[in-house]
Amino acid sequence: MRSVQTPEFEGVTFHEVLCKSILNKVPENSTLPFRFTVNTFRGCTHACRYCFARPTHEYLELDAGADFDSQVVVKLNAAAVLRKELRRRSWHRDVVALGTNTDPYQRAEGRYRLMPGVIGALTQAYTPMSILTKGTLLRRDLPLLRQAAGEVPVDISISLAFTAADEASRALQKRIEPGTPSAAARLDLIRAVADAGFAPHIMVAPVIPYLTDGVAVLDSLLGELADAGAAGVTAFPMHLRGATKDWFLSWVAEEHPALLKRYRSLYGRGAYVNAEYSRWLRERMGPLVAKHGLAGAAREREAPARPVVAEPELAGALTLF
Ligand code: SF4
Repeated sequence: MRSVQTPEFEGVTFHEVLCKSILNKVPENSTLPFRFTVNTFRGCTHACRYCFARPTHEYLELDAGADFDSQVVVKLNAAAVLRKELRRRSWHRDVVALGTNTDPYQRAEGRYRLMPGVIGALTQAYTPMSILTKGTLLRRDLPLLRQAAGEVPVDISISLAFTAADEASRALQKRIEPGTPSAAARLDLIRAVADAGFAPHIMVAPVIPYLTDGVAVLDSLLGELADAGAAGVTAFPMHLRGATKDWFLSWVAEEHPALLKRYRSLYGRGAYVNAEYSRWLRERMGPLVAKHGLAGAAREREAPARPVVAEPELAGALTLF
């Protein structure tokens, strides 16, 4: 439709489009716990250096680095198209996952307000939903989500892998996820979600080898999550697929050059940490999760929408608690 720049979003261009479809079917052979996803944006101003969705920007002939952070495609008619798709006779009210590719509550959602329409469409169609976000804007829609939860199962997951208590962790979060709300703001969000009657599940993810995997930091984070009302956690190590790998490693070269060699050895030519690191992380996390009482809560949690991870290949690397 048009491309827009506005003073509140310095350096960002929004490409407003009318989409033809919005309900994406997950490939049949996927191990994910949901079959359908909806993404209202492409690109994300949260700008996480490790973001796995970066390579998808290349399909738009934009780059997976700075363009992903600053050239955001906005599907203006998302709710209307979704309503139409959910009216099909073939629709069987499967769980729809929101936020699997880019964050539905990134700052742009404040300007475009797409999610109320999406939530309304899913509720009207008696369709369960799961949301994954780092965005505190989710708080705006809690009353609506509460209403939706009266009709259909609604799962809310929040990503947080940094502790608010540690100064170095706070500084690192600003460098590595420069557009995201702070850890303290996300802890407040978790509290608000729990107070609204949901059982917030937390993605302690990705855990960034050598930077956020220290036992003191993880211990502090899990303590904060338990205090805030987290119902359970999922943790897994960072993976670096496609163009994301170069984008992340260029950041390491600038900010932590001493770690470059270790990352090259840990990831080799692939996208995933080696099995030894995965096992090491699982063994580190297990006792901490138990210590903070987050394991039992996770087990009690009901299907249908287990924590959302958009990478089928990742299943083997997951550490679920
Ligand atoms: S919030 Fe999620 S989608 Fe957005 S940049 Fe970070 S990892 Fe990517």
